[in-house]
Amino acid sequence: MDLISTLRRSLGSDWIITDPEIVAKYSSDWTGRFQGNVVCVVRPTNCWQIEKTIQIARRLGIALVTQGGNTSLVGGATPVREAVVLSSEKLDDLEIDTVSKSAVVGAGVTLETLNDAARPFGLKFAVDLASRGSATIGGMISTNAGGIHVIKYGSTRHQIIGIEAVFGNSKVISRMEGLVKDNTGYDWASILCGSEGTLGVITRAIVRLVEIPLHRTVGLIALSSLDDAVELQMDLRKSFEGIDAIELMTASGIELVGKIHPTRFPLDNVTPFTLLAEVTGSQSYELELAEFLDRHPVVTDAVIRCDSQGEGLWLWRELHSEAIAREGLAHKLDVSVPLLVVSEFVRSLEDLISSGYTGISPVIFGHLGDGNIHINLLGEAIDDELDHEIFALVAGFGGSISAEHGIGRAKVSEMSLTRSPDDIEMMQALKRICDPSMILNPGVLFPDL
Ligand SMILES: Cc1cc2nc3c(=O)[nH]c(=O)nc-3n(C[C@H](O)[C@H](O)[C@H](O)COP(=O)(O)OP(=O)(O)OC[C@H]3O[C@@H](n4cnc5c(N)ncnc54)[C@H](O)[C@@H]3O)c2cc1C
Repeated sequence: MDLISTLRRSLGSDWIITDPEIVAKYSSDWTGRFQGNVVCVVRPTNCWQIEKTIQIARRLGIALVTQGGNTSLVGGATPVREAVVLSSEKLDDLEIDTVSKSAVVGAGVTLETLNDAARPFGLKFAVDLASRGSATIGGMISTNAGGIHVIKYGSTRHQIIGIEAVFGNSKVISRMEGLVKDNTGYDWASILCGSEGTLGVITRAIVRLVEIPLHRTVGLIALSSLDDAVELQMDLRKSFEGIDAIELMTASGIELVGKIHPTRFPLDNVTPFTLLAEVTGSQSYELELAEFLDRHPVVTDAVIRCDSQGEGLWLWRELHSEAIAREGLAHKLDVSVPLLVVSEFVRSLEDLISSGYTGISPVIFGHLGDGNIHINLLGEAIDDELDHEIFALVAGFGGSISAEHGIGRAKVSEMSLTRSPDDIEMMQALKRICDPSMILNPGVLFPDL
């Protein structure tokens, strides 16, 4: 019996999609850079169906790629070779626990749906990203997503207090007690965070929720240099304890966003660098932030908006990925370096590009508070060699070649720049135990072994 008949017989026809038009949606990534050969899509509703799918895939030797919202920017959810896509869409349980301020969430629930359910109780998930309408909790755990509030709350890893997953060896691990303290051996949630679908399929999680602050004060701040931006972010953090976000933009990014943004840029001029800072609390910080920015010597101009009006300023930052995508196929390098060397790193990056790669325009933005810079390379024919040189530069500065998006397919050959041979060997040993037939996401994180 062939693969599709076997899946249909074991799981029921309702859960298998073979219509080529629908399957095509699962075959390429958000950026359009990565394509895959998808035989069919399985949309399980429970662990049993996932176990069965894994057993069939192992028996028939077919790859299985778990896909959530398909917003990966590194091709992590797009098959490298012929594969069945296991979509988490139907894993959609959602229950808010207002007493312990947590939620039981199916892996396929989007961040936006979780927040919509938590909002009436004054609660939200602490990690936030511009892809919130599509990115799922399973995808966010499996990439350990970061986003705009890491300086305050940490990344997805820090929000997980329970996990359930079916591993590639068909074993089901369920740690769904929701205990804040539990040091009884290896922590599967931590192991699955950042595993990028290579060890198991996450089915449910218990996540912490935080209170939605009563007031938000958002400032958009004009600056002349990156050194000034780094200095200002340090002073903002000293003056506003628990600051929520410090985001960096550059003139080239703002100009691209200007092409699709419905309104005019709120500052008089677009300066080489712009910071967006958000401070929240039970009171408005409008006066304090205005006084601070007025006094600060590096600030050339600023505008402040409060509460829902702040969204208009945020849009200038959040539309960056979309504005860049409209310009063509970008190479997206998401890196981090220690804050102390951010300026020197960006200068070296600009030197590298201008000295050997004409016709390439880098658009830089990111989460400056975390030393996380998103480098977007636009141009006619972007050479993979440039990506490699940039990653080598990052490694030379003691940074990470993937601050938050993961390794996916895009950076597999670069792992050894920042992880040692022993380190990689240990990760591969863990992979072999959890996924002995090597069917889960082959070609992601490691070469197709
Ligand atoms: C506009 C935009 C803005 C973004 N901003 C940020 C940002 O600020 N910070 C950030 O960290 N990322 C950001 N991203 C990247 C992306 O949204 C995140 O990586 C997100 O966590 C991916 O979630 P997803 O559900 O779309 O996962 P997918 O793209 O579907 O999958 C990502 C990886 O997770 C695996 N996976 C998915 N679901 C499961 C599961 N249930 N079990 C096991 N493995 C699974 C996949 O196999 C794949 O390897 C952004 C993307 C876009 C398009």
